[in-house]
Amino acid sequence: MNKEIPYKIYLEESELPRQWYNVRADMKNKPAPLLNPATLKPMTFEDLRPVFCDELVRQELDDTTPYIDIPQEILDFYKMYRPAPLVRAYCLEKKLDTPAHIYYKFEGNNTSGSHKLNSAIAQAYYAKKQGLTGVTTETGAGQWGTALSMACAYLGLDCQVYMVKCSYEQKPFRREVMRTYGAKVTPSPSETTEVGRKILAEHPGTSGSLGCAISEAVEAATHQEGYRYVLGSVLNQVLLHQTIIGLETKAAMDKYGIVPDVIIGCAGGGSNLGGLISPFMGEKLRGERDYRFIAVEPASCPSFTRGKFAYDYCDTGMVCPLAKMYTLGSGFIPSANHAGGLRYHGMSSVLSQLYHDGLMEAISVEQTSVFQAAEQFARVEGILPAPESSHAIKVAIDEALKCRETGEAKTILFGLTGTGYFDMYAYEKFNNGEMTDYIPTDEDLKPGFDGLPHVE
Ligand SMILES: *Cc1c(COP(=O)(O)O)cnc(C)c1O
Repeated sequence: MNKEIPYKIYLEESELPRQWYNVRADMKNKPAPLLNPATLKPMTFEDLRPVFCDELVRQELDDTTPYIDIPQEILDFYKMYRPAPLVRAYCLEKKLDTPAHIYYKFEGNNTSGSHKLNSAIAQAYYAKKQGLTGVTTETGAGQWGTALSMACAYLGLDCQVYMVKCSYEQKPFRREVMRTYGAKVTPSPSETTEVGRKILAEHPGTSGSLGCAISEAVEAATHQEGYRYVLGSVLNQVLLHQTIIGLETKAAMDKYGIVPDVIIGCAGGGSNLGGLISPFMGEKLRGERDYRFIAVEPASCPSFTRGKFAYDYCDTGMVCPLAKMYTLGSGFIPSANHAGGLRYHGMSSVLSQLYHDGLMEAISVEQTSVFQAAEQFARVEGILPAPESSHAIKVAIDEALKCRETGEAKTILFGLTGTGYFDMYAYEKFNNGEMTDYIPTDEDLKPGFDGLPHVE
């Protein structure tokens, strides 16, 4: 291919994907089904209906339909901030003096600052279409809550966000963005739910956790007429919506005859990575082409690299269904010095199965090296990356440096999931030289594993 590759590859509106791709359809070993925590039987449509809206339950349970139409209303919303640019990292390549070709797909080009808006608008749309009044959710770092607030404001849906209390206090600006978009933000644990009151009684003064906020949000949804609960990662439906990332990337690369050798993404619950790799993974599963896929996770929350492949609770309150996934146990909480996000204890069932089947690799990295990579990237490519995204940057740089050693001109693609403007507290720690690394010992991980439910 001799067409010169531009710095940014955009797609025309007419070239935008009109369907999401369901990689489960091409998987020989399907991800294990969600189990009902009471009966340990696979969750049925009827089991899931009180919690999630109907169309999303259908998507959650659909392991066979390869392409699912994106409704026109969602396509229209996507047009406000998509296509996301695919960038050839010429400046980074030069700085690293590598023969490698580096590309990144930048998802930070919207007010919420991350890829999460891709699924937020889809979930809000289906709730609206079902005639619901509103949705409830939890948010930790705040990106998901912000994305959902934007989507709900656009569609005129009520949005109730349970925000982990320490985050609510530490990130007041995130909270205000959500309120600006009309969301009701409640610090969790709160007095507004039974489970919140119970937790407060047992642990007065607790600063909250994601698991607890999930339990409150689920209770709020099931106790209010016309409400459903929505989740920003982990679930099959979320991964499906995020395939817009990979489909756009592939369309842009195909235009210029670019074929990546290695595709890298950060992994929290697995939605951006799953979305980025899905169309490429489909080719691999169908035997059409081979790629290397690398999931990058924090060494302080190493679900893939040190977790167990087992059924586990999705939340700390153990009210949600059980999912079979690589997990550190629902009781696992990363060390207090961990600043880089990606702190969920488990991983998408789809990615867990692909990893288990040897179709994908995983690497864990320490946070100071992640912030070093973030800084290096910001200084040459201009974008201030989210700490989460910087996990992928770190490994992409490492791969490019290997190419410098071997002289190979590999094509490296990574997902740049968002911007880091609300993470300056973490950057400040790094800039002050106060950031430390902590890798949990086997002893540290043991209680989480001991708490795994016994499902054969
Ligand atoms: C939430 C988030 C992630 C991690 O979530 P996944 O579901 O694993 O994609 C990564 N980057 C950013 C910027 C995020 O907001």
